Amino acid sequence: MLSAIFNDMWNLNYSSTSEIAEVLSSHSLAMTKKFGQNFLISPEARERIVSLIKPQEGDEIWEIGPGLGAITHLLLSRGASVKAFEIDHGFAAILRSEAFADEDFTLIEGDALETLFSLPPTFSSIVGNLPYNVGSEIIARLIERVYLPPVMVFTLQKEVADRMAATPGSPDYSSFSVLTQLDYINTRAFIIKAGAFYPAPNVDSAVVVMKRRNESLVPPDERTLFLSMVRALFSQRRKTIRNNLLSSKAYSSRGKEFIEKAFASASLSGNERAEKLSFAELIALMRALEA
Ligand code: SAM
Repeated sequence: MLSAIFNDMWNLNYSSTSEIAEVLSSHSLAMTKKFGQNFLISPEARERIVSLIKPQEGDEIWEIGPGLGAITHLLLSRGASVKAFEIDHGFAAILRSEAFADEDFTLIEGDALETLFSLPPTFSSIVGNLPYNVGSEIIARLIERVYLPPVMVFTLQKEVADRMAATPGSPDYSSFSVLTQLDYINTRAFIIKAGAFYPAPNVDSAVVVMKRRNESLVPPDERTLFLSMVRALFSQRRKTIRNNLLSSKAYSSRGKEFIEKAFASASLSGNERAEKLSFAELIALMRALEA
């Protein structure tokens, strides 16, 4: 009882909602909905996540949103060095001065959307039970800023995980699928039911493993152009690629005739929906539009 608070050693039972609640109340803290704070109280799920990261002695693992350290302590116990990015100042104080003060642990306090990119990308891998409100934004930014470790393992809303692992033509395929598959092969590893979190969210979650490709699907010098074309093509899901390009500022100025020629030279009709196009078709269209 209250072991995490009164012992010298930090040994909070991360599966016990009453111990978590006591630690929070003894620090006058409360969970904040706006930061997507749902602690993972299932020990099996935590172990499975860590086994997907495969931490090795000496690895530098970046963790986004450590909370009270439910996953962090497992990574540290495997000999990894952990850099954690946490926005909640109350949690940050506990992590820094009580939980992991004597460990190979660095805490970067603040909004991960900013703080991640204030450091050079020295990571071996990135892991995070991501807050619902900014999870996909964080992943998008890592990719756009080319912060690309060999492996990333994220816990996300199931529907976001489904989009990341979707194939062209499936109902879940979106511009986020294209963005996250550019450099990675994404696999939905397992589902975590809402009841495995405290407090329980409204929806189930899933763990996605992102394994970096040997080579990006789009050459580095065409990456920016590719991503801006993808944004234009997917801007309105119900519209055809013709209508999306014609209503985009970047492409409409080139004229309808030019755009029709580009479709023809990419072997497209223009009546397709963006979510049906493969990477090869998207790349062919990008090149035709620049011809
Ligand atoms: N890792 C813990 C676990 O699995 O039990 C907590 C996960 S909880 C879903 C998300 C964590 O991300 C919370 O600790 C929250 O304060 C933190 N967080 C939310 N928004 C953040 C942001 N923009 N930058 C950094 N951390 C954030």
